Amino acid sequence: MAAVTAGGVTELAIRDSLPAGFLDCPARELAALLGGPTLIELAGRREPPLFVSVIQHGNETTGLEAVQQVLRARLGADGSGGGLPRSLMLFVGNVAAAAQGLRRLDGQPDYNRAWPGTVDHAGTPEAAMMAQVHARIVARDCFAAIDLHNNTGLNPPYGVVCSDDADTLHLAAMFARTAIRFRGIAGTQTASLAGRLPAIAAECSQPGVAANAALAASFVNGMLALAAFPERPPRPDALAMYHTMGVVRVREEVSFAFGDGAAALRLDPALDHLNFRELEAGARFGASDHAAPLSMQDEAGREVAGDYFAVEDGALLLRRAAMPAMLSCDPRIVRQDCLCYLMERVAAGASPLDHAAGAP
Ligand SMILES: [Zn+2]
Repeated sequence: MAAVTAGGVTELAIRDSLPAGFLDCPARELAALLGGPTLIELAGRREPPLFVSVIQHGNETTGLEAVQQVLRARLGADGSGGGLPRSLMLFVGNVAAAAQGLRRLDGQPDYNRAWPGTVDHAGTPEAAMMAQVHARIVARDCFAAIDLHNNTGLNPPYGVVCSDDADTLHLAAMFARTAIRFRGIAGTQTASLAGRLPAIAAECSQPGVAANAALAASFVNGMLALAAFPERPPRPDALAMYHTMGVVRVREEVSFAFGDGAAALRLDPALDHLNFRELEAGARFGASDHAAPLSMQDEAGREVAGDYFAVEDGALLLRRAAMPAMLSCDPRIVRQDCLCYLMERVAAGASPLDHAAGAP
C-alpha cells in the first residue's frame, strides 16, 4: 500500500485485482480504501490493455462512477465474476484531494500537469510517479489511453487530443462528436502519450450528473470491447475538430463582474450558454468602460486579444468568427484560470498543426 504524506503521496501502489469494496466506493472514501494513488491491472481476454485514468483531479468524479459501472456490469457486484474482453490498466489518481472534494491539495502539483514533459513539476514525487505509470503504459504497448475528466461551466462532452492520426480521431469520435486539438499542455497525460498510442482526455461535462457517467461508461465499455481501430479515418461528419486560437483572460488590473454594477467590465451573466457555439463577428460578450479589458495568448504565447476583441460604443464584441469553450461565469475561476478559450473549426483533411502554424 502506498505511503501517504500530508501532500497525499510518496509512491504508487500497483495491484492485480480489485480491492474489496472498490466498486461501491465514493470518491471521498478512496483514500481510506486504497491508501494512495493506485494502478490496478486487470487481465482480460485480449491484449494489449486499455489504459484508463480517473480522479487525476480529485473533484472530478464522473470517471470513477463510469468505471465502477463498467466493472460491475462485466465482473459482477463483488468484482470477481465474468471477465473483461480486453485487459485494463486503471489508474486512480489524486485520492487525497478526492477525500476533500478538491481538484488538488494546496502544495500538491496538479496531477495532470506532472506527466513526462512537465516543466513546472519536474523533480517532484508526483512527476516520478507519473513517469512510472507512463513507463508501464509504454512497456505494455497499450491499445489506447483514456483520461476521464469533468469541467465547470456549461460545456457538452468533448474529447481533447494532441495528435491527428486516424486511431486517435476514431478514439475521439467514439466518445463525442466534438473534439479539441491542443498542441498539448506540458505535463498532461494525453500530451505525454500522443504519437505513441491513441490518447484522449474525455471531458465529461459536469460531475454528479448520471447521464455524464453513463456516457463515459458506454465509451469505456465500447473501447474494452473493440478488437481493432478501423483502418480508414472517421468520416468528416463523425467528428467536428476544433483547435485553440488562444486562451482569454480578464486583464489583472480590470475590475469585472457578471451582470450590471460598477465594475469596469460587465460580462453577460449567461455567457456560458455560448460555449461550443460558432459565433459570428460582432457577438457581444458584455459592456466595458475599459478600451481593452481582455488579454488573449495564442499557443505560441503571443498577445492577440486585439485581433479577436474590440470595444465599440461601450460594448465588448468579438471581432471575428470564433467558438468559445470553457467559458465560466464563476468570477473565482475566471481570475484563477481564464475566462475562456477561443476555438476554430479545423477543416477536414487539414493538419491542425500546420493550420496552427499558419494562423495569424
Ligand atoms: Zn480535470
